[in-house]
Amino acid sequence: MSTVPTVVARGHRVYDVVVAGGGPAGCAAALTLARAGRTVLLADAGTGPPKAGEALVPVARLLLADLGVAEAVLGDGHLPCYGNLSAWGSDALHAVDFINDPYGHGWHLDRPLFDRRLRTAAGAAGADVVERACVRRPVRRPDGIWRFALRCADGEEHVVQARYVVDATGRRAAIAVPAGARRHTADRLTAFHVCLDPAPAANDGCSLVESDPHGWWYTALLPSRRRLVSYFTDADLPIAVPRGAEDFRRRLLRTRHISHRARPHGLAALQRPRRAPAHTTHLDRVHGDGWVAAGDAAAAFDPVSSQGIITALYTGLSAGQALDARLRGDSTAFDDYAAKVTAAGTAYEHGHRTVHTQETRWSGHPFWSRRQANPHPMKGDASR
Ligand SMILES: Cc1cc2nc3c(=O)[nH]c(=O)nc-3n(C[C@H](O)[C@H](O)[C@H](O)COP(=O)(O)OP(=O)(O)OC[C@H]3O[C@@H](n4cnc5c(N)ncnc54)[C@H](O)[C@@H]3O)c2cc1C
Repeated sequence: MSTVPTVVARGHRVYDVVVAGGGPAGCAAALTLARAGRTVLLADAGTGPPKAGEALVPVARLLLADLGVAEAVLGDGHLPCYGNLSAWGSDALHAVDFINDPYGHGWHLDRPLFDRRLRTAAGAAGADVVERACVRRPVRRPDGIWRFALRCADGEEHVVQARYVVDATGRRAAIAVPAGARRHTADRLTAFHVCLDPAPAANDGCSLVESDPHGWWYTALLPSRRRLVSYFTDADLPIAVPRGAEDFRRRLLRTRHISHRARPHGLAALQRPRRAPAHTTHLDRVHGDGWVAAGDAAAAFDPVSSQGIITALYTGLSAGQALDARLRGDSTAFDDYAAKVTAAGTAYEHGHRTVHTQETRWSGHPFWSRRQANPHPMKGDASR
């Protein structure tokens, strides 16, 4: 699957679509297009911050079933997630139990495994899939054909040609931004996270969120039985940003519920927390001449929403459908797609506002006052 197909190596084929990025959005687009009989190349660079311990909401099983991959992707290797606990707005724990969810339980994912299985499914559906390969130097020729360099892990570069390209490269939107789209960024939210060693007795099946004066904490057991502990705050708030392992540990021990979960895993030899950007961002337009953006490249949400992966699957699938319609001559398909992305952003914004106005204990602290003063994160500043 990850070797370069002969047609690419020889530079012969003009694909209908090149999909840049093999996360959930790119895979959903490639699956949809390949099933519609389109020629597709899906290339994934495998770069970016490693993704650890993400949760998938129960309703995702419907989208994965629509893509025909629910069983293949959600099999062994992930942990069921039976609900969410939160101490938000008060010290008391509030539970949302998925027992009342019509779609059943959610999942604590092994994210690399989830993405790999999606790429395998795209390959089985007929897409050419190349891993550890970066789509670079996009150029649109006067005849409308895209020409890219595909840089592989072994240092080899191949020329790839296509009529359309899907930008599913994540927050950087590596194709859409050079093509002229502008990114709007609402905040500087950043995740600081550590993975703790397994603890024999740990078997909690829910994720846990706890707010503090400068941000919020998240913990969940990973399928490896290690525990993920993440702190989310704004990178431009010096008072809020953990300075090294010891400072992270001190802050963690001040939490009430997260520290209770973390202690049995041992906090003595904590590693320095890893950082990952987690800000809300979106493009001013999600399609242009010969390109469509999907997933985080089109609109990336605050992880408190738990909507990132499902939105990536949904926009990837919808972008694939729009491209197929466009290739059949439907001139409104891209605008219809843009309306779907806008609707997803509006729903996200509503949820974001509701969640952040529920925490009133620290309204004088910048992390909270900023969010309460800007209830429209999808209208952030242009191009940061
Ligand atoms: C700290 C944190 C925690 C999160 N927790 C959750 C959670 O619990 N639940 C949830 O639903 N969401 C969560 N999210 C959001 C979720 O991770 C994203 O929304 C989701 O991964 C978006 O999928 P995507 O396919 O758009 O992009 P990505 O998953 O980022 O995939 C993009 C892919 O494109 C590749 N790529 C980049 N440039 C190129 C190029 N030029 N050529 C080829 N390939 C390229 C990258 O290597 C990468 O594999 C979290 C995000 C963060 C930051």
